[in-house]
Amino acid sequence: MSQGTTTFRTVEEQQQRVLAAVRPRAAVSIPVDEAAGFTLAVDAVAVNPVPVFDNSAMDGFAVRYADVAAASEADPVTLRVTADLAAGSPEDPPLAQGSAVRIMTGSALPTQADTIVPFEDTVGGLADSLQTAVVQRAPRAEGAHVRRAGADAAARSVALPAGALLGPRQLSALASVGIAEVQVAPRPRVAVVSTGSELVPPGAPLQRGQIPESNGVLLAGLAAEAGAEVVLREVVGDEGDGPAEAAARAATLGADVVIFSGGVSAGAYEAVRLSMGETMEFVAVAMQPGKPQAFGATAEGMLLFGLPGNPVSAAVSFETFVRPALLRLQGRAEVHRTPRRLPAGAAWRTPPARRQYLPAVIVDGAVVPATRGGSGSHLTVGLAGATAYAIVPAEVEAVEVGDLVDVWELH
Ligand code: AMP
Ligand code: MG
Repeated sequence: MSQGTTTFRTVEEQQQRVLAAVRPRAAVSIPVDEAAGFTLAVDAVAVNPVPVFDNSAMDGFAVRYADVAAASEADPVTLRVTADLAAGSPEDPPLAQGSAVRIMTGSALPTQADTIVPFEDTVGGLADSLQTAVVQRAPRAEGAHVRRAGADAAARSVALPAGALLGPRQLSALASVGIAEVQVAPRPRVAVVSTGSELVPPGAPLQRGQIPESNGVLLAGLAAEAGAEVVLREVVGDEGDGPAEAAARAATLGADVVIFSGGVSAGAYEAVRLSMGETMEFVAVAMQPGKPQAFGATAEGMLLFGLPGNPVSAAVSFETFVRPALLRLQGRAEVHRTPRRLPAGAAWRTPPARRQYLPAVIVDGAVVPATRGGSGSHLTVGLAGATAYAIVPAEVEAVEVGDLVDVWELH
């Protein structure tokens, strides 16, 4: 593939090919307590309503609205307190006209009461409130400070839709509607295989030509952030059939995805290209960094990604192609990041005819390049300072200060 005859594929076309190959796996049932980070596979249907029963939103008195509708400081209403309800009390005390039941927040509203008068609206407040209550402010309406059963979620309603990512707030919602077990997508099993005869473990003494291997920890971490479980990490050299052998080991471990890095471009010793050429397609995508991309799937459906080896290229390629696939494997409703539009706080150059993904930081609401070397795809340490990628369309030739730019914020 010589430079002059390269035909580019658009990012979207390549994403579509990738997503078309994704076969979501069967859902599994797990306890809600263990479901953080999983994606809901089927709608979660409320077992009980929320609130479960009509209850008090305040510490105070359950009353009949008609009894206190005319209460005022000048003309207070005295009620006889006939019962006392703590949260969790199973009682439903009767409420005769002119009487009140002392009630704590969350206690079930007595059937015959319709309104809550908080302690603050009585003369005595909590003090001696077990004898009489002197109401000196009328409730604003019948039903004041009453939380109605089902106001948040009705029984048998969909509390959370399939495709929702389960974080602490979502798990709390599931617990509150009485769900103890949820159907979730299993975590995608991922193998991360770095290729390159120059790579040695970080910290090892470096011979001339050798560099520390840094894509493994990067891609494994990004995969884990996207909900995957990393089942294999390997480094293979450029000679021999290392990539295919690693893919075979990944398959025996039940991997859903293999992420190769390095060895996919047009050089002389491209390990992934030489070893996996039968099962993967090698293409040039109109993006920078990340032009050389490889993708394929085994007969069993294991997805094979070949990302370029430069660390920034690998990171951007992961965001663009691998992450959406991992999210789709989990049945996530939204698989692409939603960009935010921000003004550019600096001018920078962009590559002709390729979409730019520039590691960036946001300063005072404006986006600026994170690295002084521009989009240099080898600037691993510069990448660490980035909090975002600025994404500039292929047809834009330069970004000027103040231009609006799409930004993916990373966290
Ligand atoms: P390649 O895509 O194999 O041509 O690699 C492009 C550049 O990225 C070369 O400078 C490689 O040394 C470097 N590189 C490839 N893989 C890694 C890795 N796992 N860690 C750090 N640098 C890498
Ligand atoms: Mg290489």
